[in-house]
Amino acid sequence: MGEFIVALARIAGRLILVFAGVTAAFALYSCTRGGPPRRPPDSPATIPLLTSPPIIGVRLSAGTDASQVVLSVAGPYEFRRHDTGEVLSRGESLPASGLTAREGACLIGTTPLRGGDVDCVPGKDGTLRVGETAYRGSLRCIAIGNRITVVNRLDLEQYLAGVLGSEAPLDWPDASLEAQCVAARSYALWQMRSARSRGADQADLTDDVSSQVYLGMRNETDRSRAIVAATRGAVCVFNGGLFPTFYSNTCGGHTEPAFLVLPNDRPPDIAPLMGRPCEFCELSPRYSWSESFPRKEIASRLGAGGLSADEVTQVRILEKAPGGHAVKIGVATRKQSTERVMTGLEFRLALGARKLMSTKFEVAPAGDSIRFTGNGWGHAAGMCQMGAFRMGKSGFDSLAILKYYYPGAEVVRLYE
Ligand SMILES: [Zn+2]
Repeated sequence: MGEFIVALARIAGRLILVFAGVTAAFALYSCTRGGPPRRPPDSPATIPLLTSPPIIGVRLSAGTDASQVVLSVAGPYEFRRHDTGEVLSRGESLPASGLTAREGACLIGTTPLRGGDVDCVPGKDGTLRVGETAYRGSLRCIAIGNRITVVNRLDLEQYLAGVLGSEAPLDWPDASLEAQCVAARSYALWQMRSARSRGADQADLTDDVSSQVYLGMRNETDRSRAIVAATRGAVCVFNGGLFPTFYSNTCGGHTEPAFLVLPNDRPPDIAPLMGRPCEFCELSPRYSWSESFPRKEIASRLGAGGLSADEVTQVRILEKAPGGHAVKIGVATRKQSTERVMTGLEFRLALGARKLMSTKFEVAPAGDSIRFTGNGWGHAAGMCQMGAFRMGKSGFDSLAILKYYYPGAEVVRLYE
């Protein structure tokens, strides 16, 4: 566990320079307060040093625009207005109760809460449950019309202890888990700042793969908490700014430029996200795979384009990224004379991201079906997790892993 600290100490000289840069950026913003800042303070690239971990808001998929959410607290609790903190009601414990919305106001059971934006704050951390799952922090309950949305608000470090156990097996080497943790922290902060700069005031992240998988305390263990503590506050930066530290399971031999394989995220086209060869994930069970799809099924899965009653005759890769992942794909059908062109990402999501493991594949006709023979699992931008696992096994420390997969990036501590 101490490895990470040792690694940081080893680059202490450089680290101090980076810290100095970050401090200077912060000082610049501080000095210009009252006048126009040279860089907007809410830009995702701005990383002032913090005194403590930020409180983040994670929208729970179990309670997104839902008709009801089941909430319980095993101890004292209060419901407070989110904007003013005014206490609306309190109790010694809350048995499992339906949280619902009626005309923009929250109800717990049949009791109205006199507000449509209410925090449920437990007296003791970790006693709050949504359904069967325990959560740290508090729960923001937002009523819109007759639908309810819930957002778990908690300390970033506590959030990471839950994410780590959901995004990587906790029996991995320390170095691999530490690298995963720093990547996850950096990604969460980047998403938080992006959300806030867009003016999103409900939540910073979701609890699924569109942010990072977070299942409350379900996958939190002593080990995940220890890894988070060993890397506390550490994030990846490039040119003094945060960037989206993407990661995926198995790159299949070469990570890819993020802007090519994740066009919807509009990632910056910077050195740490440009991709590089990876010889470390060869032993991944997802390194090679093969899957067949009936021609009619492909057409119906791509149905949004009007192909549903049709049959796909040919799938062609029109453009590939340097590592071989498809960037543009052409789909021809029996009924339509013109080929439909789509991004590799659109094609994979339409066919099912768990069935079509990646966009690095060869296509071959197989009678009524089309066979895809490919490599890797996931989008292949940023860190290759199975590569990080193997690097850790081979004795690389977490800093070496991060610097391998995000070339040119530095690791700094944003807070103690
Ligand atoms: Zn790899």
